[in-house]
Amino acid sequence: MSRAEKTAVYPGSFDPITLGHDDIVRRSLKLVDRVIVAVAETASQSKSSLFDLEERVAILERVYEDEPRVTISSFEGLLVDFARTSAAPIIIRGLRAVSDFEYEFQMALMNRSLWPQIEVIFMTPDNRYTFLSSSLVREVARLKGDVTAFVPPIVLEAMVARIGPSVAGG
Ligand code: ADP
Repeated sequence: MSRAEKTAVYPGSFDPITLGHDDIVRRSLKLVDRVIVAVAETASQSKSSLFDLEERVAILERVYEDEPRVTISSFEGLLVDFARTSAAPIIIRGLRAVSDFEYEFQMALMNRSLWPQIEVIFMTPDNRYTFLSSSLVREVARLKGDVTAFVPPIVLEAMVARIGPSVAGG
């Protein structure tokens, strides 16, 4: 029996994508046919940002160039509007700790009241990544720490070019 393909959207700021995000993307591919990794434009203009929107999209495209089931996009405005126009009625979010829960729960219920057809799936990453966040990776990198263990190799390369060899332990 054939069934309609399931597409999910995985939204975030991804400045930069970490191994925690990547773990969630790869786990979600076990549940759905396609994942759209969607970079939020509103979150891209902060002073503390490392890569701009175009750079984040370009990095993500390279990280997933061998995975045809993952596509990269950016969006502005409401996530549910982006999900609806992309025919992606599933939102994937990562939950690292209880501290993520309250905000995520509130967002999920708000999104559902904006678009009742949406379903939100919360996923937990591998233990190794529960402490990881993009902001912490940026901070460690800016303080000349080695972030090799936290980001995909393509991200590390882009961070070396932006910040210097210290981010790769050099
Ligand atoms: P961050 O919280 O690292 O700044 P984003 O705002 O881009 O990242 O988050 C996008 C989504 O990815 C959110 O659902 C967030 O909870 C999830 N996420 C972020 N880091 C991790 C991680 N290390 N493991 C699992 N999920 C994560």
